[in-house]
Amino acid sequence: MTRVVVIGAGIAGLTTCLRLAAAGAQVTLLTKGIGGLQLSQGTVDIFGYAPHRVGCPLEAVGDVARDKPDHPYAVIGAEAVRTGAEFLRDAVGPDLLTGDVGSNHQLPTAVGAVRPTCLAQPSMIAGECRDGARFTIVGLRQLKDFPAALIAGNLARTVLDGGGRMSARHVVVDFPARDGEADSSGLVYARAFDDEGFRGRFAELVASLVTDGEVVGLPAVLGLNDRSAWRDLADRIGHPVFEIPLPPPSVPGMRLNETLTAAVKAARVRVVLGSRVTGVDAEPGRVRAVSIAAAGGPRKFAADAFVLAAGGFESGGLVLDSYGRVSETIFGLPLAGLPEAPDELVVGEFWGAEQPLFAVGVRVDERMRPLGADATPVYANLHAAGGVLAGAQRWSEKSGEGIALGSAVRAADAIVEESE
Ligand SMILES: Cc1cc2nc3c(=O)[nH]c(=O)nc-3n(C[C@H](O)[C@H](O)[C@H](O)COP(=O)(O)OP(=O)(O)OC[C@H]3O[C@@H](n4cnc5c(N)ncnc54)[C@H](O)[C@@H]3O)c2cc1C
Repeated sequence: MTRVVVIGAGIAGLTTCLRLAAAGAQVTLLTKGIGGLQLSQGTVDIFGYAPHRVGCPLEAVGDVARDKPDHPYAVIGAEAVRTGAEFLRDAVGPDLLTGDVGSNHQLPTAVGAVRPTCLAQPSMIAGECRDGARFTIVGLRQLKDFPAALIAGNLARTVLDGGGRMSARHVVVDFPARDGEADSSGLVYARAFDDEGFRGRFAELVASLVTDGEVVGLPAVLGLNDRSAWRDLADRIGHPVFEIPLPPPSVPGMRLNETLTAAVKAARVRVVLGSRVTGVDAEPGRVRAVSIAAAGGPRKFAADAFVLAAGGFESGGLVLDSYGRVSETIFGLPLAGLPEAPDELVVGEFWGAEQPLFAVGVRVDERMRPLGADATPVYANLHAAGGVLAGAQRWSEKSGEGIALGSAVRAADAIVEESE
């Protein structure tokens, strides 16, 4: 049985683990901490802006693959992205992710902008921004991270692609999650909404405030463990409801992270939490083992193949030092996308411009093997997936999850194929 070590528990690492385990590999997941999924909106972005809002993400992936040879999608390709997104959707189930990988939803953000995203949680879908939609955004006085007036105002001002308009108003209700608490986090509310009695009292209040034909927008705190809490609330209010993700930490992100992590454990992946990879044992062209920092000295994990899914700058997979030098922190791999001078890493006076820094990372072949300066794989049995890859502006394009999923599929399938 092929032994694989996957490094990193973000969407790339977890998906790689699941796919490898499904193909019969013996998988160990080493991770120093939780990945970015928990901070995410709990949706799957494949391609959102190019630079205008994208309707069909797979088409945009195809365009990028054709026009930008340095972009990760040029080696991953649209088919692997489709496979990865569908694999994840099936793995977490329809209670958690829904949507067609060939089209984007256009959903409201925490400030009332319209955001394209591909797969979304079913609790968000009634918030689709379409011509003639009538929204009532309900804020909670005790939840400061949800500016209902701003959200409704921005939605009402929005002219949709194609010229359509929506109407939106807001109300703010006084409804503490816990008696006497004046300032609660989203997580506290999410736990309260898991309780049927709390939902019933809240629904009664909201039902008295909405009028016929209105769709109710609420902060994305409608239950942490009870996946049907939002649906129950909608039934009780008698109107469609939708969740609007808040800034991190995000309840929808936590739902997705917990479900995916549980699936990985159920698939018998050996998960070693708190395991920072600090050393590599390699011979020319092959990695033999990696070691983690542990009490009493480093602990070695040998395997036939390794997957580097340690993320980008957000998770410390890549670092920038005070001299403007960027490095990959585990294998010391060669990096691509570096401008000639370090002071060109960040350009422009605002964050609307493409930032060369974000495009720095590891360049890979079609099997996701990191390449050296001579364009050949550095190690035949090392593969990379996710935010560590070079060439994308993941945050502004909204391509992060698509790149992670497509590269996870490519890496896992290459390992399985090589072992046959
Ligand atoms: C706050 C935030 C908001 C974002 N918003 C968007 C968005 O709206 N749209 C979008 O497309 N993308 C967005 N992104 C980017 C997107 O989330 C990432 O592209 C994607 O999550 C990358 O996943 P990953 O699995 O590659 O890495 P990560 O999720 O970063 O996971 C990396 C993992 O590696 C582990 N690790 C790192 N170093 C080591 C080590 N030495 N040893 C062991 N483990 C290690 C970390 O602990 C972590 O578990 C956002 C990211 C963040 C942080």
